Amino acid sequence: MFWDKKIETMKPKDLQALQFKRLKKTLYQIQNVEFYRKRLAEAGIKSSSIRTLEDITKIPFTKKQDLRDGYPFGFFAVPLKKIIRIHTTSGTTGKPTVVGYTRNDLDIWSDLIARNMTMVGITKNDVFQNMVNYGMFTGGLGFHYGAEKIGMMVIPSATGNSKRQIEMINDFGVTTIHCTPSYAMHLSEVAEEMNTSLNSLKTGLFGAEPWSESIRKTLEKRLGVTAYDSYGLSELFGPGVAFECQERDGLHIWHDCYLVEIIDPKTGDQLADGERGELVVTPLVKEAMPLLRYRTGDVSMLMEDGCICRRGKKIARITGRSDDMLVIRGINVFPSQIEHVLLKIPEVGNQFMVYIDRINHLDEMTVEVEINRNYFSGELADLAKLQKNIVKELRNALELRTTVKLVEPGSLPRFEGKAKRVIDRREAI
Ligand SMILES: [Zn+2]
Repeated sequence: MFWDKKIETMKPKDLQALQFKRLKKTLYQIQNVEFYRKRLAEAGIKSSSIRTLEDITKIPFTKKQDLRDGYPFGFFAVPLKKIIRIHTTSGTTGKPTVVGYTRNDLDIWSDLIARNMTMVGITKNDVFQNMVNYGMFTGGLGFHYGAEKIGMMVIPSATGNSKRQIEMINDFGVTTIHCTPSYAMHLSEVAEEMNTSLNSLKTGLFGAEPWSESIRKTLEKRLGVTAYDSYGLSELFGPGVAFECQERDGLHIWHDCYLVEIIDPKTGDQLADGERGELVVTPLVKEAMPLLRYRTGDVSMLMEDGCICRRGKKIARITGRSDDMLVIRGINVFPSQIEHVLLKIPEVGNQFMVYIDRINHLDEMTVEVEINRNYFSGELADLAKLQKNIVKELRNALELRTTVKLVEPGSLPRFEGKAKRVIDRREAI
């Protein structure tokens, strides 16, 4: 099942030639970005330095922090008038990372989603309910336009109100859903409480956070779907970068659009197939925001070429992060973001702890904060006010609801050396 058979069944030799042509074009376009002009000049890389695909290892990595430093539009390689949409991802210092799209970018992005959905047998006859955030998060609009491109009926139900979501699935005869795996677990429980079976469902597309094979089994049993893993990140358009096929043994990554490496996150050296390390991607077709050797922070490995459905090395399912990023309800959170918020509030002391739990299959974050006596009256009413204020500030910065507990000065653990302020108590899913 192919959306773009010519590209999806390309012979390895032709694919490599196409990748190389596109890499050279990317290197040319990227000269419009001051950051890269400088970075490549410093590394002594000219156009003539890159003669084969393997020469990519000469190019320095691009890190998330580089993108943050370029806020807001420093990484755009086209004039602003050519950008027709932006999305953002949450940042560590209050400022998000901005990603931009030209019309051509949006067209390719929706094509990639269409490839993924077609690969698992979804057609224009399906009815698709997209239960993810439709705002600045790329998961909503990304899947929306890909599904529309195929021509199925799309229900942009977004997040929240699980009972209503379940009614829509039943009333509209929904066959395919997209959401985070933890929300799918929650939904299956609400359906059980409502004593309804979601008979029309066939396919579940789950992504934005890592999930295990045991969760897959549970979701398939409870929702009556075949569950597929979806991988992407906003810096590489959004969802659609890699996707499971019907074999459900690793994710096909679209090699005509993404040049993939696995590296040792400590040394930066490339690792061999079958070795687990950090996924590094050079997008080959992005116009608005080309990137070179982008470090995703996600841990995976390249698998041997040999799927029955199509050629091309797959990547293994993501098993974690190579940095300290947390994924909470599908939202990326760095502990430094929390610290940044707390430091701005004078009544807050300089010690805090973060606990993450999974309650009824939904992630819950609790932040324990020491109060600062110098700025604090000790009145109970003020305590409640302070707590409310911290919750509000955290929500503004992280787009996430948290529970805040205020504790006495001196009561939280002190650390010698590297502080361990985050305790993730979620079972590995
Ligand atoms: Zn396959």
